[in-house]
Amino acid sequence: MYKTDVVVIGAGPVGLFSVFQASMVGLKVHVVDALPMIGGQCAALYPEKPIYDIPAHPKILGAELIENLEKQILPFSPTLHLEQKVTHVTSKDGGFEIITDKGDEIWTKVIFIAAGVGAFGPNRPPLESIESFEGKSVFYLVRERAFFAGKKLIIAGGGDSAVDWTLSLAEVVSHITLVHRRDKFKAHAESLNQLKKLEESGKITLLTPYQLHGLTGQDGILTSVECMDFEGKILSIPTDILLPFYGLATNLGPITQWGLQIDRHTIPVDPSSCATSIPGIYAIGDVAHYPGKLKLILCGFSEGAMAAHSARAHIHPGEVFHFEHSTTTGVKK
Ligand SMILES: Cc1cc2nc3c(=O)[nH]c(=O)nc-3n(C[C@H](O)[C@H](O)[C@H](O)COP(=O)(O)OP(=O)(O)OC[C@H]3O[C@@H](n4cnc5c(N)ncnc54)[C@H](O)[C@@H]3O)c2cc1C
Repeated sequence: MYKTDVVVIGAGPVGLFSVFQASMVGLKVHVVDALPMIGGQCAALYPEKPIYDIPAHPKILGAELIENLEKQILPFSPTLHLEQKVTHVTSKDGGFEIITDKGDEIWTKVIFIAAGVGAFGPNRPPLESIESFEGKSVFYLVRERAFFAGKKLIIAGGGDSAVDWTLSLAEVVSHITLVHRRDKFKAHAESLNQLKKLEESGKITLLTPYQLHGLTGQDGILTSVECMDFEGKILSIPTDILLPFYGLATNLGPITQWGLQIDRHTIPVDPSSCATSIPGIYAIGDVAHYPGKLKLILCGFSEGAMAAHSARAHIHPGEVFHFEHSTTTGVKK
Protein backbone atom coordinates (compact mmCIF):
# COMPACT_ATOMS: atom_id res chain seq x y z
CA MET A 1 0.00 0.00 0.00
CA TYR A 2 1.45 3.37 -1.06
CA LYS A 3 0.98 6.37 1.26
CA THR A 4 0.85 9.97 0.12
CA ASP A 5 -0.64 13.43 0.73
CA VAL A 6 -2.49 13.82 -2.57
CA VAL A 7 -3.73 11.46 -5.27
CA VAL A 8 -4.59 13.21 -8.51
CA ILE A 9 -7.07 11.14 -10.53
CA GLY A 10 -6.46 12.10 -14.16
CA ALA A 11 -3.20 13.14 -15.85
CA GLY A 12 -4.77 15.62 -18.27
CA PRO A 13 -3.36 19.17 -18.46
CA VAL A 14 -5.26 20.23 -15.34
CA GLY A 15 -4.27 17.19 -13.28
CA LEU A 16 -0.62 17.72 -14.29
CA PHE A 17 -0.57 21.39 -13.33
CA SER A 18 -2.24 20.57 -10.01
CA VAL A 19 0.75 18.28 -9.31
CA PHE A 20 2.98 21.33 -9.64
CA GLN A 21 0.80 23.46 -7.38
CA ALA A 22 0.40 20.77 -4.71
CA SER A 23 4.15 20.06 -4.76
CA MET A 24 4.92 23.78 -4.41
CA VAL A 25 2.96 23.87 -1.13
CA GLY A 26 4.95 20.89 0.12
CA LEU A 27 2.57 18.00 -0.59
CA LYS A 28 3.64 14.60 -1.90
CA VAL A 29 1.67 13.50 -4.96
CA HIS A 30 0.69 10.32 -6.81
CA VAL A 31 -1.13 10.50 -10.16
CA VAL A 32 -3.36 7.80 -11.69
CA ASP A 33 -4.63 7.69 -15.28
CA ALA A 34 -6.51 5.12 -17.32
CA LEU A 35 -4.45 5.95 -20.41
CA PRO A 36 -0.94 4.57 -21.03
CA MET A 37 0.40 8.12 -21.33
CA ILE A 38 -0.09 11.49 -19.64
CA GLY A 39 -1.92 14.41 -21.28
CA GLY A 40 -5.65 13.61 -21.23
CA GLN A 41 -7.60 15.09 -24.13
CA CYS A 42 -4.58 17.08 -25.42
CA ALA A 43 -2.54 13.90 -25.92
CA ALA A 44 -5.32 11.51 -26.87
CA LEU A 45 -7.51 13.69 -29.07
CA TYR A 46 -5.46 16.55 -30.54
CA PRO A 47 -1.68 16.22 -29.99
CA GLU A 48 -0.88 17.93 -33.31
CA LYS A 49 -3.54 20.67 -33.18
CA PRO A 50 -2.47 24.18 -32.14
CA ILE A 51 -4.05 25.73 -29.04
CA TYR A 52 -4.24 29.53 -29.11
CA ASP A 53 -5.55 30.45 -25.65
CA ILE A 54 -2.86 29.30 -23.24
CA PRO A 55 -1.51 32.43 -21.52
CA ALA A 56 1.92 33.50 -22.81
CA HIS A 57 1.82 30.88 -25.60
CA PRO A 58 0.34 32.55 -28.71
CA LYS A 59 0.28 29.09 -30.31
CA ILE A 60 1.20 25.73 -28.82
CA LEU A 61 0.47 22.17 -29.99
CA GLY A 62 -1.48 19.89 -27.64
CA ALA A 63 1.54 17.57 -27.37
CA GLU A 64 3.94 20.49 -26.69
CA LEU A 65 1.75 21.79 -23.87
CA ILE A 66 1.87 18.38 -22.23
CA GLU A 67 5.67 18.13 -22.70
CA ASN A 68 6.05 21.50 -20.96
CA LEU A 69 3.75 20.50 -18.10
CA GLU A 70 5.77 17.29 -17.71
CA LYS A 71 9.00 19.32 -17.50
CA GLN A 72 7.42 21.62 -14.92
CA ILE A 73 6.59 18.75 -12.53
CA LEU A 74 9.79 16.78 -13.14
CA PRO A 75 11.69 18.33 -10.18
CA PHE A 76 9.10 16.87 -7.78
CA SER A 77 9.19 13.28 -9.17
CA PRO A 78 5.51 12.49 -8.63
CA THR A 79 4.67 8.77 -8.74
CA LEU A 80 2.66 7.91 -11.88
CA HIS A 81 0.28 4.96 -12.06
CA LEU A 82 -0.61 4.81 -15.75
CA GLU A 83 -2.90 2.49 -17.70
CA GLN A 84 -5.07 1.94 -14.66
CA LYS A 85 -8.44 3.25 -13.71
CA VAL A 86 -9.36 4.23 -10.17
CA THR A 87 -12.32 2.03 -9.37
CA HIS A 88 -12.77 2.37 -5.59
CA VAL A 89 -12.46 5.30 -3.20
CA THR A 90 -13.35 4.73 0.45
CA SER A 91 -12.82 6.79 3.60
CA LYS A 92 -10.17 5.25 5.87
CA ASP A 93 -8.15 6.43 8.91
CA GLY A 94 -8.91 10.13 8.38
CA GLY A 95 -8.03 9.94 4.67
CA PHE A 96 -8.99 7.79 1.71
CA GLU A 97 -8.05 4.41 0.31
CA ILE A 98 -7.84 4.27 -3.47
CA ILE A 99 -7.85 1.04 -5.47
CA THR A 100 -7.20 0.75 -9.20
CA ASP A 101 -8.34 -1.92 -11.63
CA LYS A 102 -4.74 -3.20 -11.75
CA GLY A 103 -4.74 -3.67 -7.99
CA ASP A 104 -2.59 -0.68 -6.89
CA GLU A 105 -3.64 0.54 -3.45
CA ILE A 106 -2.87 4.05 -2.24
CA TRP A 107 -3.75 5.65 1.09
CA THR A 108 -3.97 9.42 0.73
CA LYS A 109 -4.89 12.41 2.85
CA VAL A 110 -6.72 14.20 0.03
CA ILE A 111 -7.87 13.55 -3.54
CA PHE A 112 -7.98 15.83 -6.57
CA ILE A 113 -10.42 14.50 -9.15
CA ALA A 114 -9.17 15.85 -12.50
CA ALA A 115 -11.04 13.25 -14.53
CA GLY A 116 -12.22 15.45 -17.42
CA VAL A 117 -15.07 13.68 -19.14
CA GLY A 118 -14.14 10.37 -17.53
CA ALA A 119 -11.66 7.58 -18.13
CA PHE A 120 -10.72 7.16 -21.77
CA GLY A 121 -10.83 3.78 -23.44
CA PRO A 122 -10.85 2.75 -27.10
CA ASN A 123 -13.96 1.79 -29.04
CA ARG A 124 -12.71 -1.65 -30.12
CA PRO A 125 -13.84 -3.13 -33.42
CA PRO A 126 -15.60 -6.45 -32.72
CA LEU A 127 -12.83 -8.71 -34.11
CA GLU A 128 -11.96 -12.09 -32.67
CA SER A 129 -8.78 -12.10 -30.50
CA ILE A 130 -8.03 -8.42 -31.21
CA GLU A 131 -6.80 -8.04 -27.61
CA SER A 132 -3.89 -10.40 -28.31
CA PHE A 133 -2.58 -8.00 -31.01
CA GLU A 134 -3.01 -4.80 -28.96
CA GLY A 135 0.21 -2.99 -28.08
CA LYS A 136 2.20 -4.93 -30.72
CA SER A 137 0.30 -4.60 -34.01
CA VAL A 138 -2.98 -2.93 -33.09
CA PHE A 139 -2.97 0.59 -31.63
CA TYR A 140 -5.78 3.01 -30.84
CA LEU A 141 -3.51 6.03 -30.39
CA VAL A 142 -0.41 7.26 -32.18
CA ARG A 143 2.34 8.29 -29.82
CA GLU A 144 5.34 8.46 -32.15
CA ARG A 145 5.16 8.52 -35.93
CA ALA A 146 8.68 7.10 -36.21
CA PHE A 147 7.47 3.76 -34.74
CA PHE A 148 5.47 3.13 -37.94
CA ALA A 149 8.27 4.05 -40.38
CA GLY A 150 8.47 1.73 -43.41
CA LYS A 151 5.48 -0.40 -42.34
CA LYS A 152 2.27 -1.42 -44.13
CA LEU A 153 -0.72 0.04 -42.29
CA ILE A 154 -4.46 -0.33 -42.28
CA ILE A 155 -6.26 2.65 -40.80
CA ALA A 156 -9.96 2.11 -40.13
CA GLY A 157 -12.53 4.87 -39.62
CA GLY A 158 -14.16 7.73 -41.44
CA GLY A 159 -13.67 10.75 -39.18
CA ASP A 160 -11.03 13.43 -38.58
CA SER A 161 -8.66 11.11 -36.70
CA ALA A 162 -8.60 8.45 -39.43
CA VAL A 163 -8.12 11.04 -42.18
CA ASP A 164 -5.61 13.26 -40.31
CA TRP A 165 -3.44 10.28 -39.28
CA THR A 166 -3.55 8.86 -42.82
CA LEU A 167 -2.23 12.17 -44.15
CA SER A 168 0.40 12.46 -41.45
CA LEU A 169 1.64 8.84 -41.42
CA ALA A 170 1.72 8.60 -45.23
CA GLU A 171 4.93 10.65 -44.95
CA VAL A 172 6.76 7.88 -43.07
CA VAL A 173 5.12 4.49 -43.76
CA SER A 174 5.46 2.25 -46.81
CA HIS A 175 1.71 2.08 -47.62
CA ILE A 176 -1.67 2.80 -45.99
CA THR A 177 -5.05 1.24 -46.76
CA LEU A 178 -7.78 3.45 -45.35
CA VAL A 179 -10.89 1.36 -44.71
CA HIS A 180 -14.31 2.93 -44.15
CA ARG A 181 -17.79 1.45 -44.25
CA ARG A 182 -19.17 4.47 -46.12
CA ASP A 183 -17.98 6.07 -49.36
CA LYS A 184 -17.68 9.52 -47.79
CA PHE A 185 -15.23 10.65 -45.09
CA LYS A 186 -16.15 13.28 -42.49
CA ALA A 187 -13.20 15.64 -42.71
CA HIS A 188 -12.17 19.14 -43.86
CA ALA A 189 -12.36 19.75 -47.63
CA GLU A 190 -8.61 20.46 -47.76
CA SER A 191 -7.84 17.14 -46.02
CA LEU A 192 -10.08 15.31 -48.51
CA ASN A 193 -8.19 16.94 -51.41
CA GLN A 194 -4.88 15.79 -49.94
CA LEU A 195 -6.32 12.28 -49.47
CA LYS A 196 -7.26 12.17 -53.17
CA LYS A 197 -3.78 13.27 -54.22
CA LEU A 198 -2.16 10.58 -52.08
CA GLU A 199 -4.46 7.96 -53.59
CA GLU A 200 -3.53 9.08 -57.11
CA SER A 201 0.15 8.83 -56.22
CA GLY A 202 -0.37 5.21 -55.06
CA LYS A 203 0.84 5.96 -51.52
CA ILE A 204 -2.55 5.09 -50.06
CA THR A 205 -5.53 2.95 -51.06
CA LEU A 206 -9.07 3.99 -50.13
CA LEU A 207 -11.12 0.86 -49.46
CA THR A 208 -14.82 1.78 -49.27
CA PRO A 209 -17.48 0.69 -48.46
CA TYR A 210 -15.65 -2.03 -46.55
CA GLN A 211 -15.37 -2.97 -42.90
CA LEU A 212 -12.86 -4.90 -40.83
CA HIS A 213 -13.67 -8.60 -40.79
CA GLY A 214 -10.78 -10.59 -39.30
CA LEU A 215 -7.14 -10.61 -38.21
CA THR A 216 -4.39 -13.09 -39.10
CA GLY A 217 -1.04 -13.37 -37.34
CA GLN A 218 0.79 -15.01 -34.48
CA ASP A 219 2.10 -13.97 -31.05
CA GLY A 220 0.59 -10.52 -31.39
CA ILE A 221 2.23 -9.87 -34.78
CA LEU A 222 -0.22 -9.23 -37.63
CA THR A 223 0.40 -10.60 -41.09
CA SER A 224 -2.88 -9.65 -42.76
CA VAL A 225 -6.28 -8.09 -42.13
CA GLU A 226 -9.47 -9.26 -43.80
CA CYS A 227 -11.96 -6.62 -44.96
CA MET A 228 -15.46 -7.34 -46.20
CA ASP A 229 -17.87 -5.33 -48.36
CA PHE A 230 -21.65 -5.39 -47.97
CA GLU A 231 -22.07 -8.16 -50.51
CA GLY A 232 -19.84 -10.47 -48.50
CA LYS A 233 -16.75 -10.13 -50.70
CA ILE A 234 -13.62 -10.56 -48.54
CA LEU A 235 -10.17 -9.12 -49.27
CA SER A 236 -7.11 -10.25 -47.34
CA ILE A 237 -4.62 -7.37 -47.11
CA PRO A 238 -1.00 -7.97 -46.02
CA THR A 239 -0.55 -5.66 -43.02
CA ASP A 240 1.97 -4.93 -40.25
CA ILE A 241 -0.14 -2.52 -38.23
CA LEU A 242 -3.85 -1.87 -37.72
CA LEU A 243 -5.01 1.50 -36.36
CA PRO A 244 -8.77 1.48 -35.71
CA PHE A 245 -9.99 5.05 -35.14
CA TYR A 246 -13.57 4.57 -34.02
CA GLY A 247 -13.37 7.24 -31.33
CA LEU A 248 -12.60 7.02 -27.66
CA ALA A 249 -15.29 5.99 -25.23
CA THR A 250 -15.38 8.02 -22.04
CA ASN A 251 -16.76 6.73 -18.82
CA LEU A 252 -17.25 8.74 -15.64
CA GLY A 253 -18.32 5.30 -14.38
CA PRO A 254 -16.78 4.51 -11.03
CA ILE A 255 -16.64 8.17 -9.93
CA THR A 256 -20.43 8.18 -9.65
CA GLN A 257 -20.19 5.40 -7.03
CA TRP A 258 -17.98 7.25 -4.52
CA GLY A 259 -20.79 9.09 -2.70
CA LEU A 260 -20.08 12.47 -4.30
CA GLN A 261 -22.80 14.82 -5.40
CA ILE A 262 -22.94 14.52 -9.23
CA ASP A 263 -24.87 16.85 -11.51
CA ARG A 264 -25.17 16.06 -15.24
CA HIS A 265 -21.80 14.29 -15.53
CA THR A 266 -19.97 16.94 -13.50
CA ILE A 267 -19.06 17.39 -9.84
CA PRO A 268 -20.39 20.56 -8.19
CA VAL A 269 -17.63 22.37 -6.24
CA ASP A 270 -17.19 25.45 -4.08
CA PRO A 271 -15.59 27.87 -6.60
CA SER A 272 -13.33 29.41 -3.93
CA SER A 273 -11.60 26.10 -3.10
CA CYS A 274 -12.83 23.42 -5.56
CA ALA A 275 -13.98 21.40 -2.53
CA THR A 276 -16.64 18.81 -3.32
CA SER A 277 -19.45 17.58 -1.08
CA ILE A 278 -16.93 15.27 0.68
CA PRO A 279 -14.30 17.08 2.82
CA GLY A 280 -10.82 16.19 1.53
CA ILE A 281 -11.96 15.51 -2.03
CA TYR A 282 -11.52 18.29 -4.59
CA ALA A 283 -12.61 18.39 -8.24
CA ILE A 284 -10.82 20.46 -10.89
CA GLY A 285 -10.81 20.89 -14.66
CA ASP A 286 -13.58 19.77 -17.00
CA VAL A 287 -15.18 17.49 -14.42
CA ALA A 288 -15.77 20.34 -11.92
CA HIS A 289 -18.77 22.62 -12.09
CA TYR A 290 -19.76 25.94 -10.48
CA PRO A 291 -21.77 28.94 -11.74
CA GLY A 292 -19.90 30.59 -14.61
CA LYS A 293 -17.57 27.63 -15.16
CA LEU A 294 -15.68 27.65 -18.49
CA LYS A 295 -14.30 24.31 -19.70
CA LEU A 296 -10.95 25.82 -20.64
CA ILE A 297 -7.47 24.61 -19.76
CA LEU A 298 -6.54 28.01 -18.31
CA CYS A 299 -9.50 27.92 -15.89
CA GLY A 300 -8.50 24.39 -14.85
CA PHE A 301 -4.97 25.61 -14.07
CA SER A 302 -6.37 28.19 -11.66
CA GLU A 303 -8.61 25.55 -10.05
CA GLY A 304 -5.54 23.37 -9.49
CA ALA A 305 -3.88 26.22 -7.56
CA MET A 306 -6.96 26.81 -5.43
CA ALA A 307 -7.37 23.11 -4.66
CA ALA A 308 -3.69 22.83 -3.66
CA HIS A 309 -3.85 25.72 -1.19
CA SER A 310 -7.14 24.51 0.22
CA ALA A 311 -5.80 20.94 0.54
CA ARG A 312 -2.76 22.15 2.47
CA ALA A 313 -5.04 23.92 4.96
CA HIS A 314 -7.19 20.76 5.21
CA ILE A 315 -4.16 18.55 5.91
CA HIS A 316 -2.62 20.98 8.44
CA PRO A 317 -5.66 22.48 10.23
CA GLY A 318 -4.89 25.43 12.49
CA GLU A 319 -1.42 26.06 11.02
CA VAL A 320 -0.77 29.57 9.75
CA PHE A 321 0.60 29.74 6.22
CA HIS A 322 2.00 32.79 4.53
CA PHE A 323 1.21 33.06 0.87
CA GLU A 324 4.42 33.25 -1.14
CA HIS A 325 5.11 33.75 -4.83
CA SER A 326 7.21 31.23 -6.75
CA THR A 327 9.72 34.03 -7.40
CA THR A 328 10.34 34.03 -3.63
CA THR A 329 10.26 30.30 -2.90
CA GLY A 330 11.87 28.98 -6.08
CA VAL A 331 11.13 25.34 -6.93
CA LYS A 332 11.94 23.27 -3.84
CA LYS A 333 12.24 19.54 -4.52
C1 LIG B 1 -10.51 18.82 -30.21
C2 LIG B 1 -10.42 19.63 -28.93
C3 LIG B 1 -9.86 20.89 -28.97
C4 LIG B 1 -9.77 21.65 -27.78
N1 LIG B 1 -9.20 22.90 -27.84
C5 LIG B 1 -9.06 23.62 -26.70
C6 LIG B 1 -8.46 24.93 -26.71
O1 LIG B 1 -8.09 25.45 -27.77
N2 LIG B 1 -8.32 25.59 -25.52
C7 LIG B 1 -8.74 25.06 -24.32
O2 LIG B 1 -8.56 25.70 -23.27
N3 LIG B 1 -9.35 23.84 -24.28
C8 LIG B 1 -9.51 23.11 -25.43
N4 LIG B 1 -10.13 21.89 -25.39
C9 LIG B 1 -10.65 21.40 -24.08
C10 LIG B 1 -9.49 20.91 -23.23
O3 LIG B 1 -8.79 19.86 -23.89
C11 LIG B 1 -10.06 20.40 -21.91
O4 LIG B 1 -10.66 21.50 -21.24
C12 LIG B 1 -8.94 19.84 -21.04
O5 LIG B 1 -8.33 18.71 -21.63
C13 LIG B 1 -9.49 19.43 -19.66
O6 LIG B 1 -8.41 18.95 -18.94
P1 LIG B 1 -8.62 17.97 -17.71
O7 LIG B 1 -7.23 17.72 -17.19
O8 LIG B 1 -9.67 18.53 -16.83
O9 LIG B 1 -9.25 16.64 -18.31
P2 LIG B 1 -8.84 15.67 -19.51
O10 LIG B 1 -7.90 16.30 -20.46
O11 LIG B 1 -10.13 15.16 -20.04
O12 LIG B 1 -8.07 14.48 -18.76
C14 LIG B 1 -8.74 13.67 -17.85
C15 LIG B 1 -7.95 12.40 -17.64
O13 LIG B 1 -8.53 11.68 -16.54
C16 LIG B 1 -8.44 10.30 -16.81
N5 LIG B 1 -9.45 9.61 -15.97
C17 LIG B 1 -10.78 9.86 -15.86
N6 LIG B 1 -11.37 9.05 -14.96
C18 LIG B 1 -10.38 8.26 -14.47
C19 LIG B 1 -10.35 7.19 -13.52
N7 LIG B 1 -11.44 6.78 -12.86
N8 LIG B 1 -9.17 6.58 -13.29
C20 LIG B 1 -8.04 6.97 -13.95
N9 LIG B 1 -8.01 7.97 -14.86
C21 LIG B 1 -9.17 8.60 -15.11
C22 LIG B 1 -8.72 10.19 -18.30
O14 LIG B 1 -8.21 8.96 -18.84
C23 LIG B 1 -7.99 11.44 -18.83
O15 LIG B 1 -6.67 11.15 -19.27
C24 LIG B 1 -10.24 21.13 -26.55
C25 LIG B 1 -10.82 19.84 -26.52
C26 LIG B 1 -10.91 19.10 -27.69
C27 LIG B 1 -11.52 17.74 -27.64
